[in-house]
Amino acid sequence: MSYLPIQQLLKTAPIGTDVTVKGWVRTKRESKNAVFIALNDGSTINNIQIVAEAGQLPEETLKLITTGACLAATGQLVESQGAGQAVELKIAHVQIYGPADPDKYPLQPKRHSLEFLREIAHLRPRTNTFSAILRIRHALAFAVHKYFNDNGFYYLNTPIITASDAEGAGEMFRVTTLDATRPPLTEDGQVDYSQDFFGRETNLTVSGQLEGELGALALGKIYTFGPTFRAENSNTTRHLAEFWMIEPEMAFYELEDNMNLAEDFVKTVIRYALQHCADDLAFLENRLKEEEKTKKKEEQSEMSLLEKLQFVISNEFVRLTYTEAIDILVNSKPARKGQFQYEVSWGVDLQSEHERYLVEKHFKKPVILTNYPREIKAFYMKQDEDGKTVRAMDVLFPGIGEIIGGSQREDDLDKLTARMQEVGIDPETIWWYLDTRRFGSAPHAGFGLGFERLVLFVTGMGNIRDVIPFPRAPKQAEF
Ligand code: ATP
Ligand code: MG
Ligand code: MG
Ligand code: MG
Repeated sequence: MSYLPIQQLLKTAPIGTDVTVKGWVRTKRESKNAVFIALNDGSTINNIQIVAEAGQLPEETLKLITTGACLAATGQLVESQGAGQAVELKIAHVQIYGPADPDKYPLQPKRHSLEFLREIAHLRPRTNTFSAILRIRHALAFAVHKYFNDNGFYYLNTPIITASDAEGAGEMFRVTTLDATRPPLTEDGQVDYSQDFFGRETNLTVSGQLEGELGALALGKIYTFGPTFRAENSNTTRHLAEFWMIEPEMAFYELEDNMNLAEDFVKTVIRYALQHCADDLAFLENRLKEEEKTKKKEEQSEMSLLEKLQFVISNEFVRLTYTEAIDILVNSKPARKGQFQYEVSWGVDLQSEHERYLVEKHFKKPVILTNYPREIKAFYMKQDEDGKTVRAMDVLFPGIGEIIGGSQREDDLDKLTARMQEVGIDPETIWWYLDTRRFGSAPHAGFGLGFERLVLFVTGMGNIRDVIPFPRAPKQAEF
C-alpha cells in the first residue's frame, strides 16, 4: 500500500486505488450518515477529506479524532460527493498516532490573529497561513540557489563567527566563552579577550560581504546565503535580529552590471514562486483581501498580492541617482505638507516612507537609487569622482522600501585605506581584506538581499516576524 504526501496524492493517485494518508486533523464533522475528517500533512494548502460511515469507527477512536490529533488513515480513493474537491478517502482503517486534548490544544478551526500565533510560534506551522508561507519560503530559497547555479556563481560559505564588523555600524552580538560575571581583566582593567576562546574579540557576522569579496577575487562570481545577526533595535515590521542574507559578489562587475543582475535576479525568483506556489499564493491573496476589508479605505492597499508580484516582474525598474530622488522628495506633496515623519534633504539616509513614496506614488514602478552620499554608506563602496558620493545602489519595492543594498566596491588600495582611517577603522584589523587590493586588485561589485524581506514581499505579509519560522527580535528568543 502506497504512502504519499497529500500534495502528490491529490495530483497523481488514480480513483479506485488504496492509499494511506498521514497527517493532522483540521476539522471533524459528523452528520447522520457519515463522519467527515479534513486531514492535512503540511505538503499542501489543500486538505484531503476522509469519510467514514456512521458507526463504522469505534466510539473510543472517534472521540480521539479532534482538531490537532495526528493519525494515519487507509482506504480507497473515491470521487468526492462534496463540492470543491475531486477525490476523498473512503476509510477502511484508522490509526491514531497522537491525540490533542481539545480543551488544551491552542489551534482551533477558526482564524487566529497573527499576534496570537506569534506567541505560539512552535505550533503555527500547522495553520494554513504559516504552512503556505513556509512552503513559499522554501521555494524561494531553492530558486535562489538555482538562479546562481544557472548563472555560473559558486556558493561560498562565509564564517558566522567573525572578528570584523563589515558595516561598521556596531550592531554586533558578542561571542565569548568567558565568564560574564567574572571575566579575566588586563592590568588596566579591561576584559582580557586574549584569554577568550579565539584569543580575541569575536562577534556573530552582520554580513558575509568582506569574506565574499575574497571569494569573488578568486573564483569570479560567488554568492553567500547564510544567517546574519544584527543587535539593532529591530522593533520594526522589517527588521529581525537574526535574518538570512543573500550576497552575490562578482569580479569585473561595475555598478551598472550589478543593477542588471539585481533586477534580473529578483524578477526570476519571484517568477519561480508564481510558477511553483500558485495554490499557496492564491490562498494568501484571498487571506489578504479579507484582511484589507477590515481596514479603513485610505489604508487599503491599491494592489492585490498577485498584482504586486506582477508589478515587479513586468516593469522595468526605474534607475536614478540619490540626488535626483532627493529633488523629487523635497518637492513632493507630503514634504510640502509636512506629512513625512522624517524630514528629507540631501545627506540624510532615506526612510522606508520616502522610498515607498518614490515607488508607489511617484514612479509607480520599482526603483533603483544610486550614487548615495558617502557619509551615509559603508567604507568599502567605490568613491565617485565628485568626492561626495559613492557607487551605491538600493533597490526599492512597494510596501517595503529597501529590499536590496549593494555597490561597486572600492578597488583602489590608497583610497580604501584613507576612507577607513576617516571613519576610524584601523586598516591593520582587516589586513587580509586589503591584501586583495594589494595583489591583483580588480573592479568588482555585489549586493545584499535580506531573504526575509523577499519572503515578506512575495507572501504579502505585513510583519517580517511572520515569514521566518522562529523569529529573533528584542525580547523574543523563546522558540
Ligand atoms: P535598512 O535601511 O532597512 O535598515 P540596511 O541599509 O541597514 O537596511 P544593509 O546593511 O544594506 O541594510 O543590508 C542589506 C539588506 O539586508 C537590506 O537591503 C535588507 O534587505 C536586509 N536587512 C538589513 N537589516 C535587516 C534586518 N535587521 N532584518 C532583516 N533584513 C535586513
Ligand atoms: Mg539598517
Ligand atoms: Mg538602508
Ligand atoms: Mg542598505
